[in-house]
Amino acid sequence: MTTNLRIVTLRVAYVCLLLLVADGVAFAQEQPLKISYHLAMSHPNIHLFEVNIEVEVPAEAKIDSLDFQMAKWSPGRYAVFDFAKNVQEFRAFHGTCPPTADCMLPKSNVTRVDDQTWRVKRDGTDNITVTYKVFGNDLSGTFSQLDSRHANFNGGCVFMYVVSHKQDPVKLEIDPPKNWRIVNGRTESPDQHEWQFPNWDIMIDTPTEISPDWTQDDFAVDGKQYHVVVHSLGNEGGKRPALVRDIEKIVRAETAMWGAPEFDSYTFLLHFANDGRSNDGMEHLTSTQIIEPGALEAAGTYNETLDAIAHEFFHVWNVKRLRPIELGPWDFTRPANTRGLWIAEGITNYYGHLMQRRAGLWDDAKLLQKLTQQIAEVQNSPGSRLMSAEESSLSAPFIDDAPQAQQTNLANTSISYYPKGEVLGLVLDLLIRGKTHGKASLDDVMRRMYEEFYLKSPNATYYLRGQGYKNEDFEHKVSEVAGTDMSDFFKRYVRSVESPPYAEAFAQIGLRFFREARQPVAVGVSVDEEITANLKIVGVRPDSPAASAGLEVGDIITNFGGIKLTPDTFINRLARYKPGDRVNVTLRRGQRTIQTSITLSEPQIFNYRIEEIKDASAEVKALRAAWMNGK
Ligand SMILES: [Zn+2]
Ligand SMILES: [Zn+2]
Repeated sequence: MTTNLRIVTLRVAYVCLLLLVADGVAFAQEQPLKISYHLAMSHPNIHLFEVNIEVEVPAEAKIDSLDFQMAKWSPGRYAVFDFAKNVQEFRAFHGTCPPTADCMLPKSNVTRVDDQTWRVKRDGTDNITVTYKVFGNDLSGTFSQLDSRHANFNGGCVFMYVVSHKQDPVKLEIDPPKNWRIVNGRTESPDQHEWQFPNWDIMIDTPTEISPDWTQDDFAVDGKQYHVVVHSLGNEGGKRPALVRDIEKIVRAETAMWGAPEFDSYTFLLHFANDGRSNDGMEHLTSTQIIEPGALEAAGTYNETLDAIAHEFFHVWNVKRLRPIELGPWDFTRPANTRGLWIAEGITNYYGHLMQRRAGLWDDAKLLQKLTQQIAEVQNSPGSRLMSAEESSLSAPFIDDAPQAQQTNLANTSISYYPKGEVLGLVLDLLIRGKTHGKASLDDVMRRMYEEFYLKSPNATYYLRGQGYKNEDFEHKVSEVAGTDMSDFFKRYVRSVESPPYAEAFAQIGLRFFREARQPVAVGVSVDEEITANLKIVGVRPDSPAASAGLEVGDIITNFGGIKLTPDTFINRLARYKPGDRVNVTLRRGQRTIQTSITLSEPQIFNYRIEEIKDASAEVKALRAAWMNGK
């Protein structure tokens, strides 16, 4: 306890120092400005949002120019997208008259300072209005879409902030097309067109849907209001009422663990895009934006929606409020770097699955099957031997839906912090339950972190209540709750790449963990399943027989051990071999034919399975029931 306290005090001092250096100088001296945003969309079919920002500068303020900056990325997704690339027709006006040619400031007053910044010289005018248009035609949790059916926007890629004034209160006014209705997670009355936000960060945390035909269903849990807003771009098949009831079950399961959430109302913004590709989920303080590629009536879409809901709603606590120290307020001129995404996203993924069991949507077998799938994904990935959970978190700008113009080897060198963090959360949870004989669990770790860093910490910045945590804080909290030093776990499984002790963890709750080879031997290639005539190699595992034999991505295997194979017959054929067998192979590489041989090795890809230990003690069975049911 004493050690923890000392670390907390040191961290507070460190945060203050950083603020002084980074933002403090500007924000201690500069008075807040009155900043109003106006958003219009007069021609939805050409996908151009029309933005207008009015800034009132106090007469006595010594400001010669204002910098308007488009973020390079937006919170919740870590890849850099450079939103400025979709900005056009930036203009500046005297703020005292409406933006017309008469009151436009001379062009020489506006300078494009860099790829994301426009500087406007004041030249004696008190108020400045800038206007610009932003192209947006992606339905996603990060980008925005304006088309003839709707406007769905995420503010980070639409609204510039005024440099050094991101912390100032802002107003947003929206002018929608006739008969289109506006809704977001901060809507308080029907027909609301205007919002006040304490700062720019909270404004862009409020994704908004504007269309003529969204629906809203409501329910209440523990006095909090929940709104399920659905914009269906396909048939619903009458499934919406059942969906709303199942969402309520998830809300009840998650609030049962965390206690009452801090908000008064929360909005699930759901899109059933019905385009076969738009697929996303994004967390916000009082809402979530979820986009499914299917129609609600389609098989699978219903369950995938609930899976997304269970994950995103858990973020109400883990990541939106209880957050790694680097996650807000942000510097939008460069990517965010945090070692904590395996906690923020991975542990959320774990609970997203566990909560579907606790909500009664899944049975025990479905939960165990899902968890073993996640274990297989981690264990079968060559990148999990090279990249730790913390490094994976730091690599988020490359691996979180990042556009890659250059070819990469990330498929072999990286592991996503989602499944990696999920299996670490699972193992930690079961070990804590075992070590404390069921008196504590990962649920307690999460609750105590939330209380200490969010509810009870003084506000460290303008952005949000409380303060962020460091990975070391989480590690200390795990040891504290487990009642024993867990630093070895973090050293071996979080900061380095050893496989977590799955069997030991499952044994705590009376389950036996099995690993079974998918094939008796390993070749080390993945093949294009769409091409049924031949084996076209789309991946070569670096540490495999295929790599040793010189096979490359793009090669076509025309003969394997004397016969021609297809993706279907390949797997069956491997059953004839044993490790150490040498197989003659003919390859076609471009115009060339290559003869080689591959020495097959011990299996490298496994399935994982769980069985009940029949003679497990009553105590152990009780631990399992408590885990499944949330006690
Ligand atoms: Zn919509
Ligand atoms: Zn997430």
